[in-house]
Amino acid sequence: MTNKRLIYLDNNATTPCDPRVVDAMVPYFYEVPGNAASRNHPFGWAAEEAVDYARDQIADLINVDPKEIIFTSGATEADNLALKGVYEMYSRKGNHIITVKTEHKAVLDACQKIEKMGGQVTYLDVDDKGLINLEELEAAITDKTILISVMWANNETGVIQPMKAIGEICEKHGVLFFSDAVQAVGKIPVDPKETGVHLMAFTAHKMYGPKGVGALFVNRKKPRVKVTAQVDGGGHERGMRSGTLNVPGIVGFGKAAELAKKEMAQDAARLSKLRDKLEKELSANLEEVYINGSVENRMPHVANVSFKHVEGEGLMMTFNQEIAVSSGSACTSASLEPSYVLVALGLGDDLAHSSIRFSLGRFTKEEDVDYTIAELTKGVTHMRNLSPIWEMYKEGVDIDAIEWGSEH
Ligand code: PLP
Repeated sequence: MTNKRLIYLDNNATTPCDPRVVDAMVPYFYEVPGNAASRNHPFGWAAEEAVDYARDQIADLINVDPKEIIFTSGATEADNLALKGVYEMYSRKGNHIITVKTEHKAVLDACQKIEKMGGQVTYLDVDDKGLINLEELEAAITDKTILISVMWANNETGVIQPMKAIGEICEKHGVLFFSDAVQAVGKIPVDPKETGVHLMAFTAHKMYGPKGVGALFVNRKKPRVKVTAQVDGGGHERGMRSGTLNVPGIVGFGKAAELAKKEMAQDAARLSKLRDKLEKELSANLEEVYINGSVENRMPHVANVSFKHVEGEGLMMTFNQEIAVSSGSACTSASLEPSYVLVALGLGDDLAHSSIRFSLGRFTKEEDVDYTIAELTKGVTHMRNLSPIWEMYKEGVDIDAIEWGSEH
């Protein structure tokens, strides 16, 4: 083991398991080994009881009926089940889905597959704060629209969409409303029924539970929503998702939900103070610092910050042995692409490439944030001191107006 200091500020990628979650899971690997579908012996009954208990804990967190929770292997599967499952189930009613350009790939790729299957998908733009325009949403609805899919909070910027207003539009037009709520559940109050959401995907490993277990909420009454199973087999989960249930994982998910319900408010209050401190001090220490996304409507623990004229990937390399964050660039096979989410907000390639996402979590300490501020300040200053572009900027050259020539 290294004795280097390690700071984890990448909680939107995944959260560490809370030790209390791990303690709850342990007996279900060995002491209670049953299959929750084995109805004819005590091992199976004990496993089923544990799953039922966890289902109650999870339903309680989001204020729904436990029968409305369908367990899956994670949110990617839940997103696919919601989109493809609704598309297949309601194909006689229509084939049009509306979603947003800044959705997670699990939604966008499922939508692309639906287009290949003959569906029509409208991808809405967002404004420079990352928010959709409600009039554009309403105008996009046709008599063939069966589903509107809008994520609750964005994974890169933390921006929260106007969910209740979207729910009202869906209600008015009799269209189903699905939300990928992965980044919101367990962190802020999420109540799909009160919001008019009929299907909702979420996952344990973004709320201090284990990886590899998630859920889809499917509304049972007014309206009674159905999805066509995408995984066929033994008819588990009311026929919507077959496969032996991951009992230890589900027990951990349940415990994580129970803890989130109790601790969410205090976690959010503490983390938003730390996040604000991070943004404020970085902006005070350095020039040309930009906060990306709506600061009024966003998650309490996320900061997406661009350090102009500094390449985010390069910056990360100056401290990533010690501080884990994410950059606004994505490696594709051929090149480093700017994040499509930040591009959708209207950021140019330079600002998108110079962005860093900090996502704080339950185990982040104030000293971690202080250390990060100091290291980032050093790293950005160092990189700018080496940069000819920065030198030109300091000499008063308008960098954005330069037309860079090509070598060939
Ligand atoms: N949706 C969003 C917004 C996410 O952030 C993630 C995780 O990165 C997913 C879906 C996928 O979740 P899972 O890892 O449980 O498949």
